Amino acid sequence: MNCEEIIRLISGYLDDDIDDLMRDMLERHFEECERCLSLLHTMEKTISFSRELNKRKKVPETVIRKVYWEVRIRYKK
Ligand SMILES: [Zn+2]
Repeated sequence: MNCEEIIRLISGYLDDDIDDLMRDMLERHFEECERCLSLLHTMEKTISFSRELNKRKKVPETVIRKVYWEVRIRYKK
């Protein structure tokens, strides 16, 4: 799995919306890839913050899109 695929799966991972095999693959990737691990932490923070604001279980699509956008900029540097 490459980083692009991981990024696409992270929101599902945080929402507990992927199967165990995928979860395993992601966790293995996070152990090896500092970039994706720091992205995971960024998303965790952003998502828990927006959850508190919205008192909702699911993360609004706009929040996820915003994080992706920030990530894309960071990856380009
Ligand atoms: Zn990665």
